[in-house]
Parts: sequence; structure tokens; C-alpha cells
Amino acid sequence: MALNSPAQKLIIRQPDDWHVHLRDGSILEAVLSATSRVFGRAIVMPNLQPPITSVEAAKSYRERILSSLSSGADFTPLMTVFLKDGLSPDVIKQGWHEGVFTAAKLYPAHSTTNSSDGVSDLIAIDSLLETMENIDMPLLIHGEVNDPHVDIFDREEVFIERHLAPLLSRHPGLRVVLEHITTEQAVQFVEANAGKLAATITPHHLHINRNAMFLGGIRSDFYCLPVAKRERHRLALRKAATSGKKCFFLGTDSAPHTRAAKESACGCAGIFNAPNALESYAEVFDEEGALDRLEAFASVNGPSFYGLPLNKKTVTLIRQTNIVPLVFELLNKENEKLVPFHAGETLQWKLEENN
Ligand SMILES: [Zn+2]
Repeated sequence: MALNSPAQKLIIRQPDDWHVHLRDGSILEAVLSATSRVFGRAIVMPNLQPPITSVEAAKSYRERILSSLSSGADFTPLMTVFLKDGLSPDVIKQGWHEGVFTAAKLYPAHSTTNSSDGVSDLIAIDSLLETMENIDMPLLIHGEVNDPHVDIFDREEVFIERHLAPLLSRHPGLRVVLEHITTEQAVQFVEANAGKLAATITPHHLHINRNAMFLGGIRSDFYCLPVAKRERHRLALRKAATSGKKCFFLGTDSAPHTRAAKESACGCAGIFNAPNALESYAEVFDEEGALDRLEAFASVNGPSFYGLPLNKKTVTLIRQTNIVPLVFELLNKENEKLVPFHAGETLQWKLEENN
């Protein structure tokens, strides 16, 4: 009796990345192709220095992204505005109605890279949130408290209790994406509030738990925010991502920092996973026996939540040995390097190029 042989090829609707950091300048030029090689669209994070807080700044950043695309690349950057204390609701309305802003991003002040201008008090931006609720513009949240007295491994859970639950009660009509969730508490909270609330899940939080940061020494390549948690949380995330539930979708949070910036005494938070992001997710879905649900997670649930059309093209993944290079050269004059997620590892899936 022949056993079912594992799938050798997977054709899915083209995916989108609902959370990515493309940066600016020479890094943007170097990393963009890693995202545009597979994703049709991406929600581009606004935490540049200075952050994107106006319609003009978002338009010109969008232009810089489009002009950095290699010829023939078919990729749409979806722009976001960085919420800060004192931002006018008129900016939000103008950017939304002109089709420049797809969403607004809330960083609690000092929660992660370039977020020092973030929101210090959620109540103080309530009129902005009310505006967004009225025009039906999604709010994207980095869901961690910035309270130094809260243990770093508890900051997501505390944010949900202290801030997110009250925010959803104050604004029941607001569409909210809790970005890059890392805990079983977040999974449960999103499931309980599905409809208006959804979550993105990164490839790295599906692959690593917090031990990865300390394997044989301090491993800055696995340091990101929110920080990876205990194994039981990783397992809860894998179950959520592969469940097919509409409230969970792909968002890589690919966040390039040069080798030097990650390896300093105060190393930057972020994992650069774009070069193998879809392959990395495919590995998880394969291991969980859920390859048939990869398309929902990667290509359907996100656009459905955002109210955008599904991509028409398809991409093909082949079961094939895929050795991830140790470094990603930026090819700039400083000869800087990025270390990609899975560096030196062998993945089992590879994107078929030129399909
Ligand atoms: Zn991010």
C-alpha cells in the first residue's frame, strides 16, 4: 500500500506582507528586492528618523520606495502614518481620503526602534482614534507597555490588559491589528475579539523561543521586539497561524539592522527575515501538517481584513534544499552586512523564481 507522499510543489495566490520595515537610503535599496521578489504588497512601517507623520512625508517615502524597485518588479507599498502626541485628526483624514495612508501605526513611546516620538498616553490621542473609527481606517499597534517596571517578557500581556481591552471598549467600531504577537494571551485575546481585531505573526516567533538569544552565548541575531517568549507561547502561535482563522495573517516584521548595529554594546532589536520569509513560513506549515492553510494565512486573511482585493497572480514553492547564506551584503560604500534569519540553516522549501 503506497503511503501518501509529501507535496513537492505548492502553488498559492501571491502573498502580501502586512508588516515590514524597509528603512531608507542605501538599506532600502538593498533590502527592497527581498520583499518585492515574492510579496505583491506590503504595509510599510513609518518609524524612520524622523518618523512619517504627514501626508507629504508618506508620499515622498512611497516615491523613494517605488524608484528603488528593480525594473519589472510589480510591488505596491502601502503607507502608514506614525501616531504621535498632538498629531491633527485632519492629517489622518487627508491621508486616508487621498489614498496615501492605508493605516496608522501606534508605538507606545520608547517601545522599539525609532519610537521615542511615539504615543505617551493613549487617552491623549483619543480624538485621533475616534477619527479613524469614523472613517474606518485600521489602527496597527505595537502592543507592549513601555513601563520599565514591567518585566520585558510580560509587556505584551500587560499591554493587552491595561491598554488594548479598554481601547477596544472605547472604540468598538475601530479595526485594530495587534502586530507581531508573541504570547498565548495575545492569541486568546485576538480570537475572543475577532472581527474588528486581528493579528500578524512573524516567521521568527514561529521558529524560535527565548532560548535562541542565549544559545552558547549572547546571540543578538535573535533579539527582536517584542522579544521571543517561552516555548509554550511559540506553540500557541504556531497553532494560531496554521489554524486558518481569519483573524491571523502574515506580517514578517522584517527589520534590517547592520551587523555592526546589532553587535554593539546596546544592540538593535530586529530580525531581517525578508530573503526567505515565505519559505520560512512554509516550513512551519509543513511541519504542522497545514500546507493547505498557508494560502489563507499568507494571501487571503490579510487583504480580507483590510478590505483590499486579493492578488491575482500565483507563486510556486518547490520542496528543495535551500541553504540560507550567512550574510546579506548591502553593497554600499561602507561595505555593511546584514545577517538574515536562518543564516547558515537549510530550509526545505524554495520559491520558484520568474513565475
Ligand atoms: Zn515592526
